[in-house]
Amino acid sequence: MKYWFSMAQATWLANPIKIIESNILLVDSSNLPHYSIRKTVIKSMSSKGGSSISILSCEYQTRVMGLEELIFRLDYEEARRALLEEMRSEAKGVFDKARRVMCVQPHPDDTDVAAGGTVAKLAARGVEVVYVTLTDGRLGTVDPRVQPEELAEKRRREQEEAAGILGVKELIWLGVKDGELQPTLELRWKLVELIREFKPDVIVTPDPWLTYEAHPDHRNTGILASEAAFFAPLPHAAPCERLQPHFVRYVAYYWTRSPNEFVDVSDHIETKLKAVKAHKSQFGENPVIEDMLRAYMRLAGKSIGVNYAEAFKVLTPFYLHCNVFAEDV
Ligand SMILES: [Zn+2]
Repeated sequence: MKYWFSMAQATWLANPIKIIESNILLVDSSNLPHYSIRKTVIKSMSSKGGSSISILSCEYQTRVMGLEELIFRLDYEEARRALLEEMRSEAKGVFDKARRVMCVQPHPDDTDVAAGGTVAKLAARGVEVVYVTLTDGRLGTVDPRVQPEELAEKRRREQEEAAGILGVKELIWLGVKDGELQPTLELRWKLVELIREFKPDVIVTPDPWLTYEAHPDHRNTGILASEAAFFAPLPHAAPCERLQPHFVRYVAYYWTRSPNEFVDVSDHIETKLKAVKAHKSQFGENPVIEDMLRAYMRLAGKSIGVNYAEAFKVLTPFYLHCNVFAEDV
């Protein structure tokens, strides 16, 4: 089996090579690295050295070199970079591929503030988006005259209005009292059930490992959503005759310190801001929230060279258990 690579790629691979054109080489595939790592090699080399990708044909999986052998060939920094680059590549374009997205949020408003542009973009593309709101938001005021029950009811209506603006059709309320959310087995299995029912490709939720996050509802929501994504495909976890196990492909965390995926929301920022403003009990007519959100999204946009973006750390369930690279991916 033969492979065709650009000069830079083939040279870097250090395989037996034969020049057949000015910058195209014939590479003996008998010594090619592992399939997934080979993709990284191709990408990283095409960005260096100015040579364009010149793969004329490439058949994967004919012979697999172990990761250990690849690592053995590289110095530490190169090996680590290659592995992380490969892992990150899995998250790229995650929302472009999604058909069903479940947003698991602590309070009415969190998804809209953190990811409303992405939700609007998905809904405009026909993606089915469901919100699962864990608490009732009854504590969300500094005004002692506001009654908690009334506020909870008001916030529910505000979320319904905001969801309508973004194009979200389904809202599920678990009704835990605001400020009292715990990562209980009951809630974990309830989320597993909802995942199996809705069958999302992607779960969107707060990053529970955000340093200095003091709100337990946010930490526990991210934990519960991650646990549920992990257990949902396992048939003996919360077995149910009515619902089949379901594999969630990605968990996308917002309010994260180390984003690895940015969604261009330049065309949806006005829709997002309108949805955020529908949460009148939280933001009223305060112009500061809009300025802050615009600034944050402008900063995220710079990461990918667009006007406005929203940032996520995307992990597959593979990274959610015994994976020492997950923090850096
Ligand atoms: Zn919140």
